[in-house]
Amino acid sequence: MPHADRTRFTESRGYRLSWPFVVAAAAIGVGYLLSVGLNGYFVFLAISAIIASIAILGLGIVTGSAGMIALCQLTFAAIGAWIVSLLSVIHAPGGFVVWLLAGGIAAGLAGILVGLPALRLRGVNLAVVTLGFAAAADVTLVQIQFPGSADGIAVERPELFSNDRQFFFLAVIVLAVCALAVFFLQRGRWGSSWKAVAFSERGTAASGQSVQSAKLSAFAVSAALGGIAGGLLAGQVQLPLAASFTPLQSLALYVLAIMSGAHLIDMAILGGILWVLVPELLKRWEVDQNWGFVVFGILGVQALTSGTNLGQTVRDLIWKRTDRKTANATLSALPPDAGADAAAITTTTTATVDEAALDGAPVLTVEGLTVQFGALKALDDVSFQVPAASIMGLIGPNGAGKSTFVDAISGFLPKHGGRVLLGDRDLAGLSPTRRARLGLRRTFQQDRVPPALTVGAYVRFVARRRLAASDIDEVLEFFGCPPARARLSSVDVGTRRLVEVAANVVSRPRLLILDEPAAGLSHDEHLALAARLRELPTRYGVALIIIEHDLDLVRSVCPTLTVLDFGRVLASGPQAEVLANPDVVKAYMGETELLK
Ligand code: ADP
Ligand code: MG
Repeated sequence: MPHADRTRFTESRGYRLSWPFVVAAAAIGVGYLLSVGLNGYFVFLAISAIIASIAILGLGIVTGSAGMIALCQLTFAAIGAWIVSLLSVIHAPGGFVVWLLAGGIAAGLAGILVGLPALRLRGVNLAVVTLGFAAAADVTLVQIQFPGSADGIAVERPELFSNDRQFFFLAVIVLAVCALAVFFLQRGRWGSSWKAVAFSERGTAASGQSVQSAKLSAFAVSAALGGIAGGLLAGQVQLPLAASFTPLQSLALYVLAIMSGAHLIDMAILGGILWVLVPELLKRWEVDQNWGFVVFGILGVQALTSGTNLGQTVRDLIWKRTDRKTANATLSALPPDAGADAAAITTTTTATVDEAALDGAPVLTVEGLTVQFGALKALDDVSFQVPAASIMGLIGPNGAGKSTFVDAISGFLPKHGGRVLLGDRDLAGLSPTRRARLGLRRTFQQDRVPPALTVGAYVRFVARRRLAASDIDEVLEFFGCPPARARLSSVDVGTRRLVEVAANVVSRPRLLILDEPAAGLSHDEHLALAARLRELPTRYGVALIIIEHDLDLVRSVCPTLTVLDFGRVLASGPQAEVLANPDVVKAYMGETELLK
């Protein structure tokens, strides 16, 4: 990487990323003014809103970003409150802020424990488990109560923040710090892994990211924020009660998080304000405050059924999002040289075997690969080798076993017969994540690119290496993808799958298996893609297995071919030989007329 590039990159990055600190500092400033200006009752409500905001920020991670249902956020808050009360009663060293941190850490650890079932369960089952945990904790809490509560020992606030106004100011600072932490976590590798796992666990594993650690880290961070919220609550009320942390309230908080779109920090704060405002208004109108739950419930149902949430709607209105349009506008724009390349490889061009490359040690060796689905043998004794930095086409009629082959090689079908070696390493027993990290990458026939990420964040996530902004721009431009800042949600499916290819290529794998990469692209785009694929081995040192139906593309890109039919290798070798093989011609009869 050129030195100048790196300097420019860090400078511009430093400039862009300083704004969150400015916002946080401004919020603390406003908080200070409010702490001086607000009257006593409003100060108390404002502290409550801040506490709720922090708890909702946590839900924004586990539910909003990672897509898991967690109905026990206030149980984590109770754990934080309990630890703070305990440390206060025993006069533990460090004072309130240290106790608050300890409460957050304890809750985070509990979050990991609660998250363990989430490795196997999802949806309603996970909801039941987390709600069950909340109910069990509630019963326990009523029994044991908070340390010091029986003797009326109040939680000690820090000296500087001892009255309500001052404590409000402390709460603002804690919220600002939490929001900053969440902001950077969401933008970093963890945040990408949360959004990826919410969309597709298989896609996440294929990117070399452990699904387990993505889920557990989401639970841990979310619960830690819950714990900090609870610790603050203990400091606010000083004699916390089990009644503040019931499962019903956790449920309501969850609904509020869904409704407000809590993966967005500003919307989590809006959620926190609503959490306090709705019951307060009901009180003023002399309506039973329990109706607040009904109001949240209705808004939540609305959010779940319409697929949008209040937060996103408000945000779109305020910021008048324009990036949706800009991303789409660049989709058809391929790099200027693409047209020339495409013209140079008209269908008359045929890829030929580079004999020198074939002499190299194989990057992939498949021996007797057999996959059985019940009575069906989807793969039957498949054997072949792929030389390093070569391109092999894998073709065959629908249902021939091509996708099954990719799944078996990449670790998604561990119970197969036969051996698979990457270089000279036997891959037996290795998870998809491990295989991806060893340099065996694959793309999917279905869309598994998480729409919640930007193009650039996705490329960084999949690449798993330090990339300069210029490296990302270069590979995106090479594949004619939208710019790094574009949101994947605003990119069409065909282009998204190109982004998937680009991201996997910059991970610098030894072998990349592409499962129908051209599906969803127009004919012109097919040609342009073919030109790029042919360049990949020399440009990035990667070997390719390309599964493709478009035989024009296969012919122009793949010097060697393997044909699968009913799970068996029908033919394998140099393109011309394979395509002239009578068995291959027979298998393709009726399937296509392109074989001439
Ligand atoms: P291709 O990608 O070549 O079109 P597949 O590998 O998807 O073919 O499928 C090969 C055969 O295995 C098909 O008959 C398909 O119905 C069957 N098959 C694929 N996946 C499964 C599965 N999970 N369970 C049972 N049968 C499957
Ligand atoms: Mg397939």
